[in-house]
Amino acid sequence: MRRRRSARGPPALAAGMSLFLDVDGTLLDIAATPDAVAVPDGLVDTLNALHFALDGAVALVSGRRRADLVALFRGAGVAMVAEHGAAATIPLPSSRPGRGGRVPPPLVAALRRFAARHPDTLLELKRHGAALHVRRSPAAATAARRLAESLADAHRGRVRLLRGKAVFEFVPAEVSKGRAIEALLETPPFRGRTPYVIGDDVTDEDGFAVANRLGGISLRVGPSDIRMAKSAARYTIAGPGPLRTWLRNAADRLSSDKGAARGNFPARRAF
Ligand SMILES: [Mg+2]
Repeated sequence: MRRRRSARGPPALAAGMSLFLDVDGTLLDIAATPDAVAVPDGLVDTLNALHFALDGAVALVSGRRRADLVALFRGAGVAMVAEHGAAATIPLPSSRPGRGGRVPPPLVAALRRFAARHPDTLLELKRHGAALHVRRSPAAATAARRLAESLADAHRGRVRLLRGKAVFEFVPAEVSKGRAIEALLETPPFRGRTPYVIGDDVTDEDGFAVANRLGGISLRVGPSDIRMAKSAARYTIAGPGPLRTWLRNAADRLSSDKGAARGNFPARRAF
């Protein structure tokens, strides 16, 4: 019988770790369009509890625009890395593209023409890149893939094509979530901590590789047969709902450990 490298639940999150979380399909359930997602009640509180428990070493690492992340997670104190590392709410000196680090205008123009011909597709224009969503237009997916591959070929060396779930996305060639995570790990409060990287899609694979290389933990949200998913992640969890519950439990446990540790060394109190 074939052995499956699967069904290993996530190892515990520990106080000396740093936590990197993808958003869509990881923290949030996927919706028909990027604007249709919902942030469940309590999730921002969970993120803030983790931020406190891990001394600030928590970052969202998403393909979304920075303004979208800030609006979706209003009130969350965690770092937010947008556009796969091309933009962030904190400085990322070694992974940010230089000034003008954007995908070439002729590539964007070709995507615009395609989206105009296929109204069920959605072209999401970002500050540094562009994403063609085909979730509502499976019939256009094959043509979109052909166009994306030909554009990637024509602009080789300047752009990377990221093939996500029902989306073809272009980012500047130097941008990846893995590089963004590496850059964060050079910077306080992330520096010196073991990375715990959680994601669900091909764009998270660079981050999983960084976690594996640095002795950290890579956790994929989705089906448990990792070999079938061709993922570098070493652990899986079934979906965003179970992940949110797991994060809440981790936050509660770490917060209570932290409280207990403080209890051993009580601050001087005035009576
Ligand atoms: Mg995702």
